[in-house]
Amino acid sequence: MTGYDYAEDQENIRENYEKIMARIRGAAERSGRDPGEIKLIAVSKTVTADRVKTAFEAGITDFGENRVQELCDKTDILNIGCNWHLIGHLQTNKVKYIADRVSMIHSLDSLELADEIQKRAQKAGRRLDVLVQVNVAGEQSKFGIKPEETLGVVKAASGMENIRIKGLMTIAPMSENPENIRWVFANLRKLLIDIRKENIDNIDMDYLSMGMSNDFEVAIEEGSNMVRIGTALFGKR
Ligand SMILES: *Cc1c(COP(=O)(O)O)cnc(C)c1O
Repeated sequence: MTGYDYAEDQENIRENYEKIMARIRGAAERSGRDPGEIKLIAVSKTVTADRVKTAFEAGITDFGENRVQELCDKTDILNIGCNWHLIGHLQTNKVKYIADRVSMIHSLDSLELADEIQKRAQKAGRRLDVLVQVNVAGEQSKFGIKPEETLGVVKAASGMENIRIKGLMTIAPMSENPENIRWVFANLRKLLIDIRKENIDNIDMDYLSMGMSNDFEVAIEEGSNMVRIGTALFGKR
């Protein structure tokens, strides 16, 4: 194992970042949207803190982690002004570790978890932005609220003072051809629009967090404005 080659990694990350941004622009323009409204979350799970810092220096401001421990380790080490997103399943007993560290939780998947986030956000003296994770494709292996139960969860969370529901998130099934899962993204968007029409107090249905390295262009074409990209930016894990 040799040491970390900062210059080489910086070049790689910058190059990948530029390619991703060009593809985001392309997808946005194909669907008649402003590329500026699409936010990139760099998924840094398994990526070292050194590399996160390099990506930050390349201009990336938002990072996503799927494990609480790893997020805490990196936020302990790194003193950079970036935003952290918790994108993986969150156990209720771990909310306390991240309540004052994250900008957004993408993975609200039960009312029990909402109660705990409310409690811990209140303790931390803040209001936490949260997305409801929806299991659009009904996969057994995935977390997330059923589409038909999403409105109920949003309504319940709207009464929680220290939570602000900002939108919906989904993880599409793995597929060789992202065209096969276009419907998943389209359905999440429809769900977002339906919930928006309810005009629920304290709810901003602003964000659709959908799209990863393999499918982000299709997701953007279907309305995504938050893409979570790991491999295409940092390389294979
Ligand atoms: C790992 C992960 C991603 C990024 O996946 P890539 O295929 O590496 O882009 C996005 N979202 C979630 C929830 C993840 O766990």
